[in-house]
Amino acid sequence: MKASRKDTRRTSLFDESMEAFYRAAELIKLDPRVRLELEEPDFEHIFYITIETRDRLVPVSKEDEARFKDLPASSVKAGEALEPLANGQLVLHRRALLKADITLREGVLRIPKRGLFRIEKGGPKKFKAYRIQYNQVRGPYKGGVRFHKDVSLDLFKALAADMTWKTAIADIPFGGAKGGVRIDPSAYSREEIEHVSLRFIYKLKSVIGPYVDIPAPDVNTNPEIMAIMMRQFTDGERMPHAMRGVVTGKDVRIGGSEGRAKATGQGTVYCLEEWARWRGESLAGKRVLVQGFGNVGTASAEILHALGAKIVGVQDAYGTIHNEKGLDVPALLAHAGAPDNLRRSVEGFTGGNKLDREDFWKLDAEIAIPAALGGSITGDVAENLKVQVVAEAANGPTTPDGDRVLGDRKIDLIPDIICNAGGVTVSYYEWLQNLRMEHWTEADVNNRLERAIKANLGIIHDIATNSPQKTPLYDSRRFVVGKKIDMRTAAMALALRRIENHYLLEGFSQ
Ligand code: NAD
Repeated sequence: MKASRKDTRRTSLFDESMEAFYRAAELIKLDPRVRLELEEPDFEHIFYITIETRDRLVPVSKEDEARFKDLPASSVKAGEALEPLANGQLVLHRRALLKADITLREGVLRIPKRGLFRIEKGGPKKFKAYRIQYNQVRGPYKGGVRFHKDVSLDLFKALAADMTWKTAIADIPFGGAKGGVRIDPSAYSREEIEHVSLRFIYKLKSVIGPYVDIPAPDVNTNPEIMAIMMRQFTDGERMPHAMRGVVTGKDVRIGGSEGRAKATGQGTVYCLEEWARWRGESLAGKRVLVQGFGNVGTASAEILHALGAKIVGVQDAYGTIHNEKGLDVPALLAHAGAPDNLRRSVEGFTGGNKLDREDFWKLDAEIAIPAALGGSITGDVAENLKVQVVAEAANGPTTPDGDRVLGDRKIDLIPDIICNAGGVTVSYYEWLQNLRMEHWTEADVNNRLERAIKANLGIIHDIATNSPQKTPLYDSRRFVVGKKIDMRTAAMALALRRIENHYLLEGFSQ
């Protein structure tokens, strides 16, 4: 049978993510002891957290509805006390019952304008949690916290390793970490998510800190959750103000940095500006596909739109929309951010056509920005892409098979470890501002970020094209390997050289 391009081996995500590590280690003849140090994480923390959940109102199934046809409506309304969840259920806060007229039959009640719901008892729930501290030779462990139903030790090991390479590429004095909780956040209330966040930090307190390990937002976590985590860590401490740098990605009013919210998307756009410059082109008029419309996807789309690029397709977990003339990005942002759009989805946006999920990556465009979860650019997807460049705003969006196809088809790649390094770079600026008790302007932050991203991407491009040079911004002469290589391996070669320097110059304690 003809060999297919589909992934045939079943390897772990971690093994897949380490392919570039081994390629680059071979190429630069990484010191064997350093290689062993970097092949596995320093620490794998796996623990459990429990919280108390509130009672729920769960929609009655279609078949059961007929039995309650004559059930009169109760006088409770969906709102703050009956908190709507993204999964269609309502959380029952007892204050909803105060002064209400309730008619219950077999535990079912009718809520005006919402329909029939069955009361289900809440109670204690247990969740599996993780923190992988991969490497700290260059500085404190650093990495995001993800709340998602599909997380695993394997995934967090891969993401924590990625953070180790990313902080080295961004040339900031941090190591790598990642962690989070196995939970479907759409099924829990704000208060329950707050309790999960508090318990997460309560359990981790002895192994994190501003000079030890610094969490940040990732998928389904945000500045609000960072505030809760900071409070839990600093509560009762004698000098809580000196510990604000324990998490980054905070609200600017409580020690967050200007520019942090958009920093990852901004970094992606700085990379794309350089890519266009190498080709003697500009981003104006380029057609763009954005997958994921959360923190990173929205910022990338907004900034590119402002630069005159056309966002022709956007896909999130719930829907795909397309407009070949370019979507009205401010209107799309308003649609996704509307208070009643609980899933913050692009679904239902009237300024574009609805598209089948599998047709998204086949759209005509010059730029593809995967900004959702890992593994979306598979070999098959890559075969059908019509774009000139894939800018990996998400972590690990391209499978090894996808990588090979992109290479064969000469589609350019801006690898994740530089493409989305804007977030952690501004996290470093936030940490510095916290320690110095300073507050920088957005212009200051973006100027520094632009220099940092463009200089380090420049070094990676020089390694890939084997063009050693010293420019006013950087010196790539120490990093080239003597032949042309792909961008992902080039990025990894840069990271490994910088990490290796620490081990070799500082030596090993025995
Ligand atoms: P987010 O939770 O704000 O948004 C995630 C988006 O992806 C949502 O729009 C969601 O609907 C969409 N999505 C989820 N599953 C999908 C699917 N199967 N198909 C299409 N869309 C899907 O997350 P974020 O912070 O924007 O992070 C996105 C990616 O960027 C992640 O890979 C994350 O690790 C990476 N990243 C984030 C940051 C940061 O600063 N937030 C920094 C570096 C890397």
